[in-house]
Amino acid sequence: MNNSKTSIAIVGGSLAGLTLALACSARGLAVHVIERSQARVQGGDSLGVDLAAIALTTGHDPRQQPALPVVPAYRDRHLTTWPALYAWLHERASKATGVTFQQGANVSSVTDLGDQVQLQLSNGAQHFADVAIGADGYNSVVRRAIVPADPLARYAGYLVWRGLIEERMLTRPVAWPSQGGLWIDFAEGYRLVAAVLPGRDGSLAPGQRQVTFAWFDAHQDDLLRRTGCLTEDGFIVGTLGRHKITPLIRIELLRRVAEQWPDPWAEAVSAGVQSLDALSGAPIAEYMPKRLASGRLALIGDAAHVVSPMTGRGFVTGVEDAAMLAQALADRQTQEPAALALARYEEARLPFVQGLVRQSRQISAEYLHLAVSRRRLEHHF
Ligand SMILES: Cc1cc2nc3c(=O)[nH]c(=O)nc-3n(C[C@H](O)[C@H](O)[C@H](O)COP(=O)(O)OP(=O)(O)OC[C@H]3O[C@@H](n4cnc5c(N)ncnc54)[C@H](O)[C@@H]3O)c2cc1C
Repeated sequence: MNNSKTSIAIVGGSLAGLTLALACSARGLAVHVIERSQARVQGGDSLGVDLAAIALTTGHDPRQQPALPVVPAYRDRHLTTWPALYAWLHERASKATGVTFQQGANVSSVTDLGDQVQLQLSNGAQHFADVAIGADGYNSVVRRAIVPADPLARYAGYLVWRGLIEERMLTRPVAWPSQGGLWIDFAEGYRLVAAVLPGRDGSLAPGQRQVTFAWFDAHQDDLLRRTGCLTEDGFIVGTLGRHKITPLIRIELLRRVAEQWPDPWAEAVSAGVQSLDALSGAPIAEYMPKRLASGRLALIGDAAHVVSPMTGRGFVTGVEDAAMLAQALADRQTQEPAALALARYEEARLPFVQGLVRQSRQISAEYLHLAVSRRRLEHHF
């Protein structure tokens, strides 16, 4: 058996885990990132980012060359693609001082032994650390160790069909202002958020960019259950990927695109629906945290709190978590128990993230109310 030991273990090497790794490195702390994906992590399509917050947290400014490709969104937010952000973080974390990686290693359980943490890997190996941080997403294994009585995120009542397509697949470039922004529409109980983003090479030239869409749909519970993505008691156990989205589902979606959305977004969404790889249906989860830390364990990002994408806050909040947690660990006095630093992080952070999840639930409830009214209206006529 292959055992190893580090000071700070981060479970999960996606957006939150990489951000924390950089934040710790910038504050002189060594970390070991354990990620279950063999190679690069595959994530979402697009997201809103706060460039100044990323710079302050990681010590790397995404506005400096080679810059993260972005377009303005609203106020101090910019939009980027998920793959571009992941690549930007990963490239910097893999060269950062004191950051080591273990890819293709699934953590099956985490145990706080009092004087250290034991991480059990699925391949039989064990890793030991002074502290372990869960950055392992909405279905976090570290959260199970911190809150064993209430560890699972619940289905929020709707899914989002989402995709990222090449603008050159459309008949003509999207006429879209150079100052960027989001296009948001609500029709018959469905909600569409779309935007034009930099191309894969960062290009902002019309025809070379990418178009992203998130189509919120509260009428697919049966489909999610039939395809094994949702349990009867409301827990998410899968996403609708290319193998679960049958030709019949695609035909039905195409019919609704034409009825609901205007061009150029209708053409972009149709292209996404027809492409085998571009479309996925992600059931949306929410999780209200009661704890962010316990003993030598702590949580950040979606492992700590899960909010609807309608808040536009999931990753942004993960960046703030990473900054506060890294600072709490860096401020720790030599003889101070690690648990005290993690408790300080929890005390400072928990009220804010609980408020955010309450806000997310409110947004979801309002959306579901509108979606259900639409269903009744249809029935009535
Ligand atoms: C449609 C959509 C739009 C969104 N838009 C925005 C937006 O505009 N702004 C915003 O801020 N947020 C947005 N979000 C939310 C944002 O994408 C998430 O909050 C963020 O990606 C979560 O990152 P994470 O690293 O915490 O978790 P994840 O991305 O889930 O990463 C968890 C990582 O941990 C690894 N892992 C899991 N379990 C284990 C294990 N047992 N052992 C080892 N590794 C493990 C996984 O492989 C993965 O790499 C959006 C989300 C969606 C779905």
